[in-house]
Amino acid sequence: MSTDGTTTTTFRWGSACDVGQVRQVNQDHVLTEDGLFAVADGMGGHRAGEVASEVAVGTLKERFDVPDADHLVVAVQLANSEVVRLARDNPDFRGMGTTISALALTRNDDHDVLAVANVGDSRTYLLKAESEELEQVTEDHSLVATLERQGQLTADEAASHPQRNILTRALGIDGNVLVDLWELEPVKGDRYLLCSDGLFNEVDEGRIASVLRRLAEPDDAAAELVRLANEHGGRDNISVVIVDVVQAATDVGAAPGRVRRVTHGESRDGAPPEAVPARPGGAAPSTGSGDAAAATGGDRATPTAADATTATQRSKGPRSRFTWRVAAFLVALVAIIGGTVAAVDVSMNGTFYVDTVDGKVAIYQGTPGGLLWRQPKVVTTTEVAADDVPDDKANDLGGGMTFTSRAEADAYVEQLRADIERIDAATGDGDAGSGLGGALGGATTTTPPTTPSTTLVP
Ligand code: MG
Repeated sequence: MSTDGTTTTTFRWGSACDVGQVRQVNQDHVLTEDGLFAVADGMGGHRAGEVASEVAVGTLKERFDVPDADHLVVAVQLANSEVVRLARDNPDFRGMGTTISALALTRNDDHDVLAVANVGDSRTYLLKAESEELEQVTEDHSLVATLERQGQLTADEAASHPQRNILTRALGIDGNVLVDLWELEPVKGDRYLLCSDGLFNEVDEGRIASVLRRLAEPDDAAAELVRLANEHGGRDNISVVIVDVVQAATDVGAAPGRVRRVTHGESRDGAPPEAVPARPGGAAPSTGSGDAAAATGGDRATPTAADATTATQRSKGPRSRFTWRVAAFLVALVAIIGGTVAAVDVSMNGTFYVDTVDGKVAIYQGTPGGLLWRQPKVVTTTEVAADDVPDDKANDLGGGMTFTSRAEADAYVEQLRADIERIDAATGDGDAGSGLGGALGGATTTTPPTTPSTTLVP
């Protein structure tokens, strides 16, 4: 705890950062300086995600050198630039990125202001002193959050959605990044929680709030939240920073709705920041701002450069400025999924090959080895014994030879049968290859070998 000489607001804080129960590497980083707190959740292969989050918080700490909200945004943008530069200059770091959620004590005229900057799906929550209700201040930049804001997913559906790790905004993707900013009045007794998704994906907000109310010491509460996340699986890295407002000019009893979503550019132009009432549940209203294209990367998905938005765009109204981008993204996503499904269907339905099942030669439909979620299936099991297949045809089986129609596959088996009969006649062996006639056409649902002895044929 300490006090900036120009401020009346003081804090106490605690933190915990844990690798979790599954991951080998902790790609989260936290920052706890007096008056500047942050959580960053890195993504990218090898050590890249760890580097991205470390560089982000390190740059934020170094470059947030003037205590005002503008400079907090600039410091986050500089952190983005540094991650982008490292990724560009080092092949090992290509594709890395990180979220960041930061809380800073700033000054506006002669008032203390808490500024919250956010990019990605790490979160800042507020446990209000007067009500002890937990409210999410930030908005997630993720696909499911976008769909939830549009009313296409419920909160419960979003919380368990298999694609909840797809981000629509992150640091490190493009040289320009849109930074969400909120300004809040410091109120004595308020408790802030900054955390990565490793916490709230494992522990519901009710239990998080309960811990925050029950444990007065920030370090104790942070440790307990990490323990609960691990108890529920700990499938991701877990970062928690808890910041208590110990002293503030405003005491408990301040009017609710003190959270202001800042349309920062308008403020720069001289207009007052837009005052936004708190939405039910406490966070600033949904805007869908900046949500755009997504792509996969590492163990979670990251945005593409298409999501990059210049700093000057922050001056525009967040609700309307990106509506077309969200729509374009969803249309593109549907088109990609539809195109993929169609391509897989075409490939699987239009490919046949011959292999064996239960000691018999069989005709399979589908790409040998399968394609994405589709596996080949047996459409006909013949009476041709696998042991009778001539050695010079053995490599044709299992996908060594493929056909574009069922008729071609049938013709191949007929030829195979003829070859076997010819060999039998020449060697005087009448036992093999005698039962093919009439055997074709008996479609079955036999499951193919788990690991076909084939190679993938495009
Ligand atoms: Mg995470």
